[in-house]
Amino acid sequence: MAFPRDFRERPDARRGAALDRADQRVLASPKMGVLQERMTTSLTSVAHLSDQDLLSEVKVAAARERKATARIIALLSQLDARRLYLGEGCSSLFAYCTQVLRLSEHAAYGRIEAARLARRFPIVLDLLTDGSVTLTTLTLLAPHLTPVNHRQVLSDARHKSKREVEHLVARVRPQAAVPATVRKLPSQKAPEHSVPPAAVEQRVHTGAARALSPPAIRPAVVVPLAPEYYKVQFTVSRDTHDKLRRAQDLLRHSIPDGDPAAIFDRALTVLLSDLERAKLAATERPRSSRPTMIRSRHIPAPVRRAVWKRDGGQCAFVGTHGRCLERGFLEFHHLEPHAVGGPAVVENIALRCRAHNVYEAEAYFGERLPLLVREAPAPTYGMPNSVWTQLPACSLDHSAVRD
Ligand SMILES: [Zn+2]
Repeated sequence: MAFPRDFRERPDARRGAALDRADQRVLASPKMGVLQERMTTSLTSVAHLSDQDLLSEVKVAAARERKATARIIALLSQLDARRLYLGEGCSSLFAYCTQVLRLSEHAAYGRIEAARLARRFPIVLDLLTDGSVTLTTLTLLAPHLTPVNHRQVLSDARHKSKREVEHLVARVRPQAAVPATVRKLPSQKAPEHSVPPAAVEQRVHTGAARALSPPAIRPAVVVPLAPEYYKVQFTVSRDTHDKLRRAQDLLRHSIPDGDPAAIFDRALTVLLSDLERAKLAATERPRSSRPTMIRSRHIPAPVRRAVWKRDGGQCAFVGTHGRCLERGFLEFHHLEPHAVGGPAVVENIALRCRAHNVYEAEAYFGERLPLLVREAPAPTYGMPNSVWTQLPACSLDHSAVRD
């Protein structure tokens, strides 16, 4: 029997003989064959949808999913109030959600938070159903909603991103500024068992760090504490630490306490100035530029400055659902392509993210684009430079605002 690709690649499936007999029986059962057939049938049916039907149906499906989620949350709310999970053999609602409903821990946590919030403020079910708020939004807001503020705060949170909701929380419940700290993380030889980052941090505080592994590289933390203050936390190398110490020494006259936040701000100010000068040709005293050769792909500095300012440093592509919000991987795009004589003037240049730059090039050139472009559509999150350098200069404008 042939299993779907993702099934074959499950780590436990790869172990083959290591699968226990029960699992093997399930995988080989007629029921599993039916499931596989259904999945194939389902994929085949959507593969034949037109672009327009696909866009319509996915919106309908998303609306149904929101409605189903709100329904589960309402049911869980009652189930929790009646503590029915106890009779089912579970010690908590969380155990019931993960063990009986087979929800992931993350999904269970979000739904339980929402269920308990819905009991206090039933309006959240309507907001979930119509897509005004997500489970993530509710999880962030739950501790800060009160009978007095919940309507206003939930209204302010409608259609907001996670980052925007974090700002909202900082406004509703401002926190005190955190003190600047620079501390060395443990770097002893790794033991056999890895230690979760949270445990590392906790043991550092308790002075029990000696037997720990090298600290795992954790993503930087940037969270708003109050409308005008953020907490920024990251791990740096010894070299960076030494640079900080040198900067503190050199800046004693103007930053006597060596505040890392003040030095961070100065460093970023200089960095941004350098980047803008290098990438956007930004200058306080612009010179008149030389006339551009007709065949040159060069975009004059005044044009780049004007385009950047006009487009607000954001992709200016406007789709049927609105303007693209991307501010990374930006490139200068010729509206009328350079390959067909489009001039490098402000009216003909616009900012595009990399994905939309390729999208428009494909739309314009169609079959004339090399196979490489059609086989490697631009992903949202970057693409190896080697792929991009293989694109012919005549078919794709990618005068990058990047490194
Ligand atoms: Zn875009």
